[in-house]
This record gives sequence, structure tokens and C-alpha cells, in this order.
Amino acid sequence: MDSEGVQALIRNKEEDFKIVLNTLFKIARNILQNPLEEKFRSIKIVSKAFQEKILPFDGAIQCLLEMGFKEDGDRFTLFSETKLDDLEEVYKQLMNAEKVTLKKNLSPSLKKSQDEILQRLKSHLRHTSIYENKSLQQKARAVIPIVELNTRTEKRLREETNQELSNYQYCFLLELLHWFKYEFFTWTNQPPCTSCPESEKYSIGMLPPSDEDLLWGASRVEGYTCSNCHKILRFPRYNHPEKLLETKTGRCGEWANCFTLICKSMAYDARHVLDWTDHVWTEVFIVSMDRWLHCDSCENVCDKPLMYEQGWNKKLSLIVAADHEHIVDVTRRYTRDVNAVEIRRNEMFDSDWLKCTIRELNETTRLSMTQSRKEKLRNRLLNEEKELSSAKTETGCEYEGRTSGSLAWRLARGETDKVKDGKSKMETCEVIKPSEDEIKSGMLTLEYSSSLDKYTRITDSGKSYIGWKSLVYRHQDVMKKVEQDWKQASLKIYYF
Ligand SMILES: [Zn+2]
Repeated sequence: MDSEGVQALIRNKEEDFKIVLNTLFKIARNILQNPLEEKFRSIKIVSKAFQEKILPFDGAIQCLLEMGFKEDGDRFTLFSETKLDDLEEVYKQLMNAEKVTLKKNLSPSLKKSQDEILQRLKSHLRHTSIYENKSLQQKARAVIPIVELNTRTEKRLREETNQELSNYQYCFLLELLHWFKYEFFTWTNQPPCTSCPESEKYSIGMLPPSDEDLLWGASRVEGYTCSNCHKILRFPRYNHPEKLLETKTGRCGEWANCFTLICKSMAYDARHVLDWTDHVWTEVFIVSMDRWLHCDSCENVCDKPLMYEQGWNKKLSLIVAADHEHIVDVTRRYTRDVNAVEIRRNEMFDSDWLKCTIRELNETTRLSMTQSRKEKLRNRLLNEEKELSSAKTETGCEYEGRTSGSLAWRLARGETDKVKDGKSKMETCEVIKPSEDEIKSGMLTLEYSSSLDKYTRITDSGKSYIGWKSLVYRHQDVMKKVEQDWKQASLKIYYF
């Protein structure tokens, strides 16, 4: 049946339609998510919400009646014996109405772009169900040296002085990241030639995938040739984490895919994160912190969400995180340049469309959830919404450039400052002004520790500056190198 209320609603002015639609969405969602809560089933007529966001608009009260609300003295009430079928039906029709009106004035290019985004969101969400496979999780656990990582975690815990960071779940995650990068997975720029490991390889474009490749989601197979023996070398881009447990190599796609499974197998709530500027990583929920932590397994980095914008020079637009239960627009976590991001997003999609699309995708996954799980997820999402809408602070470490991948590959992606005419890009840095004491004594002492990556101003009560770039006006060909095996860290000059 077509709801007469919804039809009338559509005839309101566009801005009015949005207001009343969001109000009705909120009413319906509260009841659907908390069917036993009395307070959500009753709306006072004198309330501000009713007077300003329902009453003045055509069709709004009609919608409430169709949902099953009844006039009940000074209020509208959905009595507890009323079934929720009608409410659900009206809710669905409201969602459809929103979609139709959002499409009305769309340019063809924006429509095409939105269609592409929708396809990627769907396939992203679909992909995450792989991580729930229990036998696959068991396979993943079999490759993790759990006993050894437990020992390392206990050692880390003994040394950790910060109360907030001193918890097992978090410290184990750090050990897992470290192990994954330095002992388990490797990076592949080009596939090696088994006969001549030192030779150069040239790209020969894409090769057709074999049946075996397709079985593991590698519809793309990169081709190379060895400059020495001219053998054809294949690099299938596997998309199935089970295969990656065996090959243990790839680029960021393979790293994030496999690491997300590894986290899931260790009972973490983990999400696969997709960034529209061509990167992927993982987010992990830490219970004691009550929030999602950014984890980039290629970089062995945890909780430095600003590193892409600040350190890699990425022009971010859309970043979504998903697990089998929900998908969230988490872009805000990764940027401080909200306005620039907004401009880029406006060229890709209508912001109401994205909200509506994500909500709809989440509605479909919610159907199979238990009530207690729904409740837990709802609280988590609300907390996250609050977190994302509050401003970000930087920690200084985000300024590190990317360390994985060859320089040529990073330059091609625009993630490294291009060196032109022998001059590097000027960095923004702090300016040191001598304090009164320093002027009096005629001395200013500044020490740099490469292991802590920190400057200490000895002559100004030990004031510190985090990150070697923080006090550098201009630099060229300098990188921080950390050698895990030798437990050494240093700044090095690279001649490219
Ligand atoms: Zn060869």
C-alpha cells in the first residue's frame, strides 16, 4: 500500500520535507530499536518537537496515525499492544521517499559517481562477512605465535606507566601489529624472479587471471618480466584473507585484509577501513577506552589517525569503516581540514544521499541481530558519533611520511613531497625564541633523541618538541629509520 501520509509529505517544500522526515525517522527508529521503552511511544502535543517539526507540515500527523499512533488526551501514543508492522512499513516508505527526492535534481556526473560509491560500499560490507567464518579464524590463530605475544604483552605492561594504555587488550594489539609487520607479512612491489633475485623487473600490464586466481578473488593479475632471464612473473592481487595467510605478502590491500582477519581471530571487534584516496587499513575497538582505534598494519602504527593527511599529504574525501554488522562514515576521524574535505565530497556525492544510503545499508544488516546486540551497537555508534563530531588534536607523530612501498611508488601516488630543482618543499615548523634565562646565560642547548624522536630544550626547563620535523625549517632526503632487529633508531640522509 502507498502511504497517503508519505505522499502528502513529499508535497512540502524541500527544506520542510527534510525537517519533518528526520523527525519521523527519529521517532520510528527509537521505537524499532527499543520496542519495550514506554517513553519513545508517546509524544506530547505541547512539546517543541511536535509544535515545530510535526504540526505545521502536510502529511506528518497522517504518517503518525498510519504508523499506529492514537490521539490520547494531550499526546499521541503508540499503545504497547499495537504491532510494529505498520510502523515499519511507513518507515520503509519514508526511506524510499527520501531517496526519490534526493535523486531529483542530480547532475548526471554526480549520479554516476554516487552509483559507483554505492557499489563499493555494498561490496565492502559484503567482504567483511568473510572475517566471521569460524574455521577461517581458527586457521588464522594457528599462524599467530600467541604464547610468545602474550609474553611480550606482559613485558610491555610491566613497563607501561600510563594508566590508560596499561591494559592487556590494547598492549596485545600493539604486539600483534609489530609481529605482523616485522615477522609475518612482507611488502611486494614487484614479484621476485626465483632464478635471478637481484635483477630488475619491468611491468608488462595486466595478465588474465587463472581459475585458481579467481577462486581467491584475484580478478586483477599484474604482469612483470625479468630483465635478465625474460621470464614472465605474475602478481595476482588476492582478495581472500585465507589465501593471504599462505602467501603472506602484498601491498596495503593485502596487508589490511589479512590483518583485519588476524584481529578478528583474536576476538577483537575489528573493522576493515576503505579510503577513497586508495588506501585501506583496520580499526579495532578497545573496550577499556570505549572507542575505535586506527591501526595501519603496513606501518605498524596504532591510533594516529591524522598521519595520512599530515604525514602522507593525502587529500582525503571519503573514508568508511565496516564490519559484518555496520558501516560508518569515519572520515572525520582522519582529518582536521574539514572544509577542504567537504568541498571534495560535494563533487562526489550529495551529503544527505550518503547519510541515507549508509542508514539503509545498516538497516539490512540489523535484521539478523539479537536485541541485546542491537542495543550494544547503538550505544557504540552514538558514542562514536559524538567522538567524530568533536575536534581533533594532533600528537606530532602524524607528520611521519609513509615508510612502506618504494619511493617511486609513493611519488606516483603523490604521498611524498616531490623534490624539484634540488629544493624540497618548505615545512611549517615551530620557531624557537630564546627565553630570558637563555639570553642571560648566553646559551641555548637543544638535544635530540632519535629513539624517542624528541627534542629536549635543556636550558628551558626541559621543554620538549615531538618529532624531528617539528623544528626543521627545510629538509631534503632525510628519513627516520628504525631498525627493529638492532633496536636502533637514527636520522639518515638518503641519496635518491
Ligand atoms: Zn630472472
